[in-house]
Amino acid sequence: MKLDGMETQEIQLMQDGFSGLAHVSIYCVDGEGKELTKVSGDSKEAERLIELVGKKQLYGLYERICASAIEDQIIEDTEYKNIKIAATAVRAEGKPILCWLACCVLEDFDTEGPGKTASDFQVTTSEQAFCQALDLIRMWMTEIVRAKTNESNALAQSRRSSFSEHEMSRSLKRTEAMTQIVQMLAGKDSFEQTAARVLAIMQDYLQVMNLTLFQLSKDGTCIDAIARSPQQEGGSQNDGSRERGQQLTGNPQQNKASCSTDFAGNRASERPVVMQNDKMVVVSSGTLVSSALRSYMDENGIAAFLSAPIRIRGEIAMYLFLYTKKEPYTWPLEEVKFTSDAVRILQTMLEQRVARNSMASSYQSMTRMLNMVGSCVYVRDARTKEVLFANELLQHHFEQEYKQGTLDKLLDEARPIGVREGFYELHHAARNRWYDMHFTYINWVDGRKAAFYSLYDITDKKLYQKKIEQQAYTDFLTGLYNRMCCERDLSAIVKRTVQEGTKGGLLYLDLDDFKHINDGLGHQYGDVLLQSISNSLQRINGIRNSCYRMGGDEFVIIVPPESFSHFDEITEEIKKIFSKPWFLKDADYYCTMSMGICYFPENGEEVQDLIKKADIAMYEAKKSGKNRVACYSDKISSSSSKRLDMEKNMRNATTNGYKEFEVYYQPIIDIQKEGTPCTGAEALVRWNSAAFGFIPPSDFIPLAEYLGLINPIGNHVMKEACKACKYWNENGHPEYKVNVNLSVVQLLQTDIVEIVQKTIEETGINPHNLTLEVTESLAINDMERMKEILGSIRSLGARIALDDFGTGYSSLNHIREIPLDVIKVDQSFVADLTEDSYSQSFIKMVAELAGAIGVSICIEGIEKKEQYKVLEGMQVRLVQGYYFDRPMPRRNFEEKYLK
Ligand code: C2E
Ligand code: CA
Ligand code: CA
Repeated sequence: MKLDGMETQEIQLMQDGFSGLAHVSIYCVDGEGKELTKVSGDSKEAERLIELVGKKQLYGLYERICASAIEDQIIEDTEYKNIKIAATAVRAEGKPILCWLACCVLEDFDTEGPGKTASDFQVTTSEQAFCQALDLIRMWMTEIVRAKTNESNALAQSRRSSFSEHEMSRSLKRTEAMTQIVQMLAGKDSFEQTAARVLAIMQDYLQVMNLTLFQLSKDGTCIDAIARSPQQEGGSQNDGSRERGQQLTGNPQQNKASCSTDFAGNRASERPVVMQNDKMVVVSSGTLVSSALRSYMDENGIAAFLSAPIRIRGEIAMYLFLYTKKEPYTWPLEEVKFTSDAVRILQTMLEQRVARNSMASSYQSMTRMLNMVGSCVYVRDARTKEVLFANELLQHHFEQEYKQGTLDKLLDEARPIGVREGFYELHHAARNRWYDMHFTYINWVDGRKAAFYSLYDITDKKLYQKKIEQQAYTDFLTGLYNRMCCERDLSAIVKRTVQEGTKGGLLYLDLDDFKHINDGLGHQYGDVLLQSISNSLQRINGIRNSCYRMGGDEFVIIVPPESFSHFDEITEEIKKIFSKPWFLKDADYYCTMSMGICYFPENGEEVQDLIKKADIAMYEAKKSGKNRVACYSDKISSSSSKRLDMEKNMRNATTNGYKEFEVYYQPIIDIQKEGTPCTGAEALVRWNSAAFGFIPPSDFIPLAEYLGLINPIGNHVMKEACKACKYWNENGHPEYKVNVNLSVVQLLQTDIVEIVQKTIEETGINPHNLTLEVTESLAINDMERMKEILGSIRSLGARIALDDFGTGYSSLNHIREIPLDVIKVDQSFVADLTEDSYSQSFIKMVAELAGAIGVSICIEGIEKKEQYKVLEGMQVRLVQGYYFDRPMPRRNFEEKYLK
């Protein structure tokens, strides 16, 4: 059928109103599917949205409605998660005559689900608003079409009935009025202004009615007029809502006290009986009503009235009150319907305004709140990046970035690309401040999607943390970094060398015989030494910031890639530090070190692995005689795992009754004695390990010293040797003496004198037959202490031999001062005795010197007759060496020398 008398323009106007109300893109097709209206909606976006969805798809919905007899409305999803499409049709005689095709962009949608997301749209709506808008447009159009149909039907009948002609024109007028009212939905004026206009339109249609819109006080006890129709019945001009309200209550003075302050400036009246219902009440002149109502009507001269509540969020907020004094008056159905529709529109308008107001006020209170919080807040449009909000603190902290527009860049750099919501740390390098940054997406007050950043200044916390970290990473004694820091730094440096393809070195230093100094001079001097060494290390160029004390007397130095070209110079510098004596407790002390080296990433990339390898190399240096440098190699590594095994086994062997430690005896010969030249023997320990087999002392004594196990082992040897000697003395050789080697570690035990004394007492050996062999070492520098210890031992009756003479630091200078009985010249002088005139003259000189101070001289390591011959002309009496006999088990010695 044709929509006779219905202008396309009217439909367009109405459609525009709906579009504005619900933020939808919408257009209308007629019964033939032809486009009737232009697309309504925010001009550019609406067109773009329709284009994105495709008119074809929308037209499909129209076809479905045509095909169906009952379906008037379809709402469907699209391939975009956030776009919905819909069709809503108005039928006449079963066929759709108008069909609106609409689409909208949702503000809230499931971001997780499958499908695309259409971005770039500013105008969004809720699914509910979309459905409501569709309902509304269909309802109104149905109403209009019905009116038009009636109209055309009526037109056909008009020749027969003048009454229906009047009816028809009323209907037309009503449609026009309603169209005008609907169009007002999109208006931006205040609610009061709009409502007044709506009332005017209504009055124009209803003609003689008094229309007033009353607002209900919050507690619901009072009313006040906020809008009313321009003409009052009986020709009176608009005389102000206040009087109107008073007039209606009939007794305003009485209620003044309770209601007078409810409406800003206006005195309100008590809520009258006609505005007590929660539904629309229609009372015509002849309607039967309660006596209260009747008396109210009579009091105010009301012939008929209509009272309709208007709600906000379900609560009655206002009443639209219509009345007439014209008697009699019966409400025509059309007018009731018309009024009811108008009330619905007023309600929609009101809710819209309230939402807008609450948005504005919530924005205000939110702004106030966000300015008070202790963190910086920054909000920007998720799509356009437009800054929506920046609180005062943010503008203060990031003043420059904010003004220069570089803040986004700074914030975005703080979180990894592609990462969305979460906590990040932001370091503002220029101002050296740290922030905890929380980033998330929110729906901004106006509904659009926004990126929300809150930044909390954690600089103080960070600095404190750094300080604590600094403390945790520093060795309190030396001020160097500690092991923990070493591991952290090494990890970072190794990573860097791997990335850059460069090289670095790791040095592991262990002081030789530091224990001697510590035990000998006391801890405070040990500490001074460690501090002095640390200071010297830190002064070396290229490693200033990479020296670490690992604990005890161990240091690690990282040679970073940028210093690696000077690697050799650095190690030389380090060696130099230890080549000079340290002045401690009014004397000079030497303290050498053993150094292990490994390289990265060549020898490994793992921190623990590298430190272990440098340590292994260091131990290798130590084992091969201390005061040396060794580089890591896989060969060393295998011997190092042996070392670990050995350590375990050695500990077991000491707790296991020392059975594995066997004492051998090498005879000491007096070459000037006739007949029986043996004067006794030197006790030399061997380790007959069940796990490793026979181990010579040179292979395990350094480790025993390193582990401190030399003390119990040495004590055991001393005891065994004393027992043996006592046996010899009691079995035909009272003159036999036994020599026992004392390591410096043993010598510096605080109770060494007591140990010797106890051994003498327990074994019953004649102390004169016990000789303790001590070596020269740095410890000898502590003359006073050395003199004291050796003096005490001698006062027990035992004798002292200075072993390996000629290899140490102090040499001849100290011989006079130390309480000595024998000087044992080091084997190295004997090895080249036959060729080297220096060795000859050295031995000669020592022999003479020894004679001069009343000390015996012993030459050891004589392997050949020629060597022995050279000695003949010298003042040498005691000799030792393979030429005479090798060290042998006690049983063998006794068989041979105990006749
Ligand atoms: P040392 O005190 O200088 O002992 C002499 C070393 O020279 C012994 O080696 C001995 O076997 C060896 N020797 C003796 N005559 C000759 C010879 O003609 N030619 C050669 N090439 N070597 C000869 P050994 O028994 O292997 O001991 C090595 C070192 O281990 C000792 O050197 C000593 O410093 C230490 N040592 C041995 N037993 C003990 C012990 O019970 N306690 C301590 N603290 N150290 C010990
Ligand atoms: Ca010796
Ligand atoms: Ca020796």
